[in-house]
Amino acid sequence: MPATVLIVEDEPAILDLVAVNLEHAGFETLRAKSAEEAGRLLGDILPDLVLLDWMLPGQSGLALARRLRGDARTREMPLIFLTARADEPDKIAGLEAGADDYITKPFSTKELVARIRSVLRRRKPQHGDAPIEIAGLRLDPAAHRVTGSGQALAFGPTEFRLLHYLMTHPNRVYSRTQLLDEVWGDHVFIEERTVDVHIRRLRQGLAPSGHDVLIETVRGSGYALRP
Ligand code: CA
Repeated sequence: MPATVLIVEDEPAILDLVAVNLEHAGFETLRAKSAEEAGRLLGDILPDLVLLDWMLPGQSGLALARRLRGDARTREMPLIFLTARADEPDKIAGLEAGADDYITKPFSTKELVARIRSVLRRRKPQHGDAPIEIAGLRLDPAAHRVTGSGQALAFGPTEFRLLHYLMTHPNRVYSRTQLLDEVWGDHVFIEERTVDVHIRRLRQGLAPSGHDVLIETVRGSGYALRP
């Protein structure tokens, strides 16, 4: 599943350059030309990472970063500052506002892509390619293969993503809204009931090896994967 990056940048040429390079590197991109536009967009869609320009017309990138960190829904969202400011105090302010990294203009697009991948590896393991194994259940993202106690298990693309997400975040309870945001990237235009349908299919796919018991329904809260 490609990671989605929201680029917030008021300079059209830089916005285009960054978006084209990220798309070429396999990312999906969203674009906003101001903090206000980004704020509206984030009300509907949660990207996997925000690339945030510091100097914006209206609200600054720093103010938006602080707002995102203060909101429970966006508190954990990976954030990289992209800015012409190279001064030490600004870097510190950016990192104190909760940025994961800081890239100074002019930048090499290769370095930008590498830094984004590095932050995502650390913060969003469900986008990684490393095989993961829990209680005899093994998921290999690169080969798109799942085995339960050595037996091949078949899943549709959504169940595969859902399983990958739950396996990279075990023992945590996720609400339907959170799963829509994290696995579908959208909690506004998809019904919560959709999650239940895919959880049911996921359990059916896991049943042949008995691993369906790993998926726990937490009444009134949502779902968790518990080894
Ligand atoms: Ca700017």
